[in-house]
Amino acid sequence: MNNDLSSLNILDCPLCGGAPLLEEEKDWCFYVTCMDCGCHTADFSYNNPKERLQSAEKAVHTWNLGKVISSIPGE
Ligand SMILES: [Zn+2]
Repeated sequence: MNNDLSSLNILDCPLCGGAPLLEEEKDWCFYVTCMDCGCHTADFSYNNPKERLQSAEKAVHTWNLGKVISSIPGE
């Protein structure tokens, strides 16, 4: 079983430069979130193990492009 998510290259947070975290949600999606400011990407869902890694890659790619949702209220 190849679950090689560790090979994904995740850049620092595009908003604050904080540490990113690739999160998996209960066997159905991935997203990347910032451990410092709490911004995050959209969810990237998958339906089977084959799509799983692709979803993780999409989440990381989106994050690396800076397409994140800020959750800071009015700051
Ligand atoms: Zn951040």
